[in-house]
Amino acid sequence: MVIRNLHRLSRLFQPVSVVPKNAEVKRHDITSKSQRLMLELGIIRQASPGCFHFLPLGVKSLEKLTRLVDEEMKKIGGQKIIFPTLTNAKLWEKTGRLETVSSELFQIKDRHDQSYILSPTHEEAASNLLASLAPISYKHLPLKLYQITSKYRDEMKPRFGLMRGKQFLMKDMYSFDTDLETAKHTYDEICKSYDRIFRRIGIDFVKVVGCSGHMGGELSHEYHYKADVGEDKILTCNKCNYSANTEVSGEEKCPNCGNTSVKIHLGIEVGHTFLLGEKYSKPLNATFLNNHGKPDVLQMGSYGLGLSRILAAVIEVMSSEQEIRWPQILSPYSVIILPPKSGSKEETHIKDSGLVDSLYEKIETTCNLQDNVLIDDRTNFTIGRRFLEAKKNGYPFIVTLGKKIVENPLLYEITNLKTNETLFLSENDLMNYL
Ligand code: ATP
Ligand code: MG
Ligand code: MG
Ligand code: MG
Repeated sequence: MVIRNLHRLSRLFQPVSVVPKNAEVKRHDITSKSQRLMLELGIIRQASPGCFHFLPLGVKSLEKLTRLVDEEMKKIGGQKIIFPTLTNAKLWEKTGRLETVSSELFQIKDRHDQSYILSPTHEEAASNLLASLAPISYKHLPLKLYQITSKYRDEMKPRFGLMRGKQFLMKDMYSFDTDLETAKHTYDEICKSYDRIFRRIGIDFVKVVGCSGHMGGELSHEYHYKADVGEDKILTCNKCNYSANTEVSGEEKCPNCGNTSVKIHLGIEVGHTFLLGEKYSKPLNATFLNNHGKPDVLQMGSYGLGLSRILAAVIEVMSSEQEIRWPQILSPYSVIILPPKSGSKEETHIKDSGLVDSLYEKIETTCNLQDNVLIDDRTNFTIGRRFLEAKKNGYPFIVTLGKKIVENPLLYEITNLKTNETLFLSENDLMNYL
């Protein structure tokens, strides 16, 4: 068995950097905890304000989130596609959004003077796709198309790392139905799927009534994580439990029952759903053939999840100032193995046995953790130092080959960062534990 280079820490491309503390920077450069940790630990690197390189650990985590989202989208019949990044500006002119959101749009021209936008979202593109076909039959509806791609917004204040970027990764789904009633049904189904995604990530979230804003439409909900660096204010009524973004109504009273006893907290918007009706399909002429064989306007919904923002937000919620923490399902690696320091008694003891490699292989195969086990093979460092670094990097399980590996029976030391417990286990017990 050859341990892939990637799974040896000494070979991992993880350029760490030092980020100045808030006290040392100008006011407009204030950082968030997640931003600082992700930069310091070589998970992302800033290319320019609001634009980031995703480094191997960041990509690994993002791939896990993508897989989770793909699984849930599949369960509700979502079909994955990719819209072009460049959208013809004329489509945005037709829906009026070229004007209403112009300040956030990146606009470019090709050599023939044709105008495009770097798409910040794809309602126009999705409607245009349907409009460009011979109208599809009502029998093929509802249709749920989604993609996971980069979006571009010329944000006034890009900040907090991945939280508010000029380029960021979004999962966006577009639904098409025959009438408003079935569109509402589809809307509820997709919201339930979002609930499942957030439950699987495992961080407490709130679903609130959202503001349709520039998007328009009939109905809208937002998903938020509570956090001090959240840029949205969420109102929750103490009486009827109604919850909404204060953008819906500024007043400090419940828009549902009028009660003035409300709680306000800050939230990070991580998802947003819209029941749009005909807002885009009508001006762009996206139609279907109804059961009388006549064309009718499609009823649309749109559903966004900020994947790169979710990564930053969960780290923001879970981490301390010094140590990063991941939801286990999104952690780049689940287990890190710390072999003894070179030249130590423990190392001499296991030198010829191939113990480290066989342990690695056993954990990967028996515990179904392929690609999820890392070996900190920098054995010129003490175990103590590597253990502290492993904690800082937030690997959920740290397996240390310490003093008890020279004893009989041989025991492994395992630290569970979630429960903060350390146990000494035989190989079998270790496999069961993991
Ligand atoms: P915000 O209120 O934070 O500006 P938004 O309401 O403009 O976000 P939507 O148009 O609803 O965002 O986009 C869907 C999702 O995309 C958001 O819920 C959020 O998770 C994510 N998102 C939006 N803008 C950004 C950004 N600049 N950087 C990272 N993620 C973003
Ligand atoms: Mg915005
Ligand atoms: Mg918003
Ligand atoms: Mg929104």
